[in-house]
Amino acid sequence: MAERQHLTDPRRILNRQQIMAENWIFKDLVRAIPSIDAAIQFCAERRLLANMNNCQQCNQPRNVIREASRKADGIVWRCPGCHSKTSIRNGSFFDHSHLSLEQILLFSYGWSRDWQFKDCTS
Ligand SMILES: [Zn+2]
Repeated sequence: MAERQHLTDPRRILNRQQIMAENWIFKDLVRAIPSIDAAIQFCAERRLLANMNNCQQCNQPRNVIREASRKADGIVWRCPGCHSKTSIRNGSFFDHSHLSLEQILLFSYGWSRDWQFKDCTS
């Protein structure tokens, strides 16, 4: 992976109005997030994950790097200066959850529609 400082192309990030105008049906949501990377992009585009991360110590942007051991996400922010790392979920709605982003998105969808838990898992 080439070094990059964003989870998704900043031009793809939706504004609040665009986000509020979206109306997903479950089948399309499932198709929109076929992989971990797709789910990360989906979240970044909808401002559910910060698209950039700054190292406070070095005052410079961290890069996205692959880290297979990193729980569900497979990537992490790493500072090119001090090499400190932080989760891409830091400070987000997804912070501290051990579920995958896909699982949380699909469960949240079901919750927003008042579905029973059994309907979300089947
Ligand atoms: Zn640093």
